[in-house]
Amino acid sequence: MEKKELLYEGKAKKVYTTEDPDVLIVSYKDDATAFNGLKKGTIVGKGAINNRMTNYIFKKLEEKGVPTHLVEELNDRETAVKKVEIVPLEVIIRNFSAGSFAKKMGMEEGIKFLQPTLEFSYKNDDLGDPFINRYYALALGLATQEEIDAITKYAFQVNEVMQEYFASLNIELIDFKIEFGRYHGQIILADEVSPDTCRLWDKDTHEKLDKDRFRRDLGNVEDAYQEVFRRLGIDK
Ligand code: ADP
Ligand code: UDP
Repeated sequence: MEKKELLYEGKAKKVYTTEDPDVLIVSYKDDATAFNGLKKGTIVGKGAINNRMTNYIFKKLEEKGVPTHLVEELNDRETAVKKVEIVPLEVIIRNFSAGSFAKKMGMEEGIKFLQPTLEFSYKNDDLGDPFINRYYALALGLATQEEIDAITKYAFQVNEVMQEYFASLNIELIDFKIEFGRYHGQIILADEVSPDTCRLWDKDTHEKLDKDRFRRDLGNVEDAYQEVFRRLGIDK
């Protein structure tokens, strides 16, 4: 599979067309951004880790019945994926208070919820990905009721699978963001799951093993990504 044309360059990945109109190649970069692009940097080795971690977890999710865009890992940084029309909703699941939730609710971080939460942001960089609910999404035609139902079902399923899997690595899955797309009329999981898009804490020490180390200048950013990758046990 060969890259043809650069279709889109985002903050963390480049997306290329291929000779197959149904298949794209995503290429993961080491670039890191936070606060809607205001903070920029590099996390050496991140692209390969996020690529391989996403593919490893997407395979597990497929086995558990969650359809994903994964076609084939091509190399450390590049993966062939099904070309979808991205549903412009960032789907955020939380198991513990953290980040914007903790701030909004005046809570400290790390409080376990009675049950997981789900929220949507409208995927729009110019507006800073504002929080919206399903009625906004329906009113604005961002997704249909059936699509939102499928997205909600899959998102909680992804949480179940990932929570259990990370627990086996002594990692607490605090929260995460996922994106879905339309592929021949079906909703499938797209984009990535990585320390860029998940909050991952060591279960014993509560050490942060994710992008908050970059966002909050906590140091040892590369080490945290490497540590998650090491625990996954997928390095050859
Ligand atoms: P951003 O656009 O937020 O800067 P990235 O740098 O990760 O993010 O860019 C990747 C882009 O590709 C995102 O806009 C994402 O929604 C999109 N994308 C992810 N998977 C697919 C797919 N299978 N088909 C089409 N687009 C995808
Ligand atoms: N997240 C993400 N991309 C975004 C916004 C959030 O991947 O554009 C992830 C983030 O890494 C965290 C979860 O979604 O795991 C919840 O983020 P939150 O709403 O608390 O926002 P933040 O504090 O990161 O601004």
